[in-house]
Amino acid sequence: MLAPTPYPDIRTDSHSVQHVYVHVPFCPSICPYCDFHVLTRSSGMVEAYLAQLEREAAYLAAQTHYRTELDTVYVGGGTPSFLRDHELATVVDTIKRHLGWGKHENTLEINPGTVTPSRAMHWKALGFDRASVGVQSLDDATLRFLGRQHSAQQARTAVTTLLDAGFAVSGDLITAVARQPLEADIAGLSALGVGHISAYTLTIEPGTPFARQGVQVSEADEERGFGLSARLLTQAGFERYEVSNYARSGQRSQHNLGYWQNHFYLGLGPGAAGHYPAGQLGESAQRRSNPPLHQWLQHDYSALDALPALASATAAQQVNGRVTEHLTPHDTLTDALFMGLRTAQGVDLAAWSGRTGLDLRPLRAAAQRYEAQGLLLQQGDWLRATPAGWWHLNKILSELMAVGDDTDSD
Ligand code: SF4
Repeated sequence: MLAPTPYPDIRTDSHSVQHVYVHVPFCPSICPYCDFHVLTRSSGMVEAYLAQLEREAAYLAAQTHYRTELDTVYVGGGTPSFLRDHELATVVDTIKRHLGWGKHENTLEINPGTVTPSRAMHWKALGFDRASVGVQSLDDATLRFLGRQHSAQQARTAVTTLLDAGFAVSGDLITAVARQPLEADIAGLSALGVGHISAYTLTIEPGTPFARQGVQVSEADEERGFGLSARLLTQAGFERYEVSNYARSGQRSQHNLGYWQNHFYLGLGPGAAGHYPAGQLGESAQRRSNPPLHQWLQHDYSALDALPALASATAAQQVNGRVTEHLTPHDTLTDALFMGLRTAQGVDLAAWSGRTGLDLRPLRAAAQRYEAQGLLLQQGDWLRATPAGWWHLNKILSELMAVGDDTDSD
């Protein structure tokens, strides 16, 4: 999907970044299905992490091609709630001093085994108002199979404690586990009073212990999990506002909506990715990704300004292990479709055509074929997937992306 040159300069659209993601890579133990950048803590490692986070935040704050006007902050991982209280306080202080704090939502990812009433109050006092809790299941056998360190009862107690402390609580559920009592999991989590549930299919990623052990997810379990989550959670009063995310009124994740609406966000910490406003002529935006912890700790952030001049807008540059991709308008459109079609709201094609300068008529024509099959809907400027279309989303997206190769600048 290569873009023609010269590219329209769309930086006038916005120079402001509304979201910050901070990756805390430490976990008490590593789950066999996990393919995030995680490690168990070792002596001096957290201190080194905190010092480098301070340097990275200062560097990002000093960038002049965007303003940070934060709506949301999300501290995830990893298990940030596994940090000791004073360590998490340092993370928060670093973000607040250099980049600010979210006006609308500040989320902490929490492992059920780390919750006590006093810690919940501490997290609240730090400024978090939303807790994303890795419940995964309320069945002990399923939790053991997933290698989770908490019990079903610990998960229930953690959710209740966080609700009592005044958090908006989201619970993560994993579906498609063989012999998982999914109906009971959904009913149980919903009955605890959470306002948001993320229901993700178990996937076996290459390189994980599950992959090495030959664990498989059957298509039947996958389809059953996908369908049951949608049916039972909507019956329970949750809105399916994204393919895997369900919210009660007013409890959608504003941070994740930022990703799905292709907003700009800063990504701090090892392994974190970010989406940045354009910094150089010829690009429409930047995607940056940090390397794993050991390499990230080697960064000299004072030297990172010395990026070489762009050879072309499609070039990726690597400095100290950090990769910066210079996104073309086509890349930006691809991202907007890829993320936006995951949401119930869909994608505003007219807005993205205006923002990228691309003619989207070929894409609209291709979408019509899926409309005829009941998988996509075009209403005015908006393109969205139907619930049936969500099940086939990857296939639909790959065809729409291929058609996108034929789009042209106006
Ligand atoms: S707790 Fe979460 S981040 Fe940590 S290893 Fe398990 S799945 Fe991965």
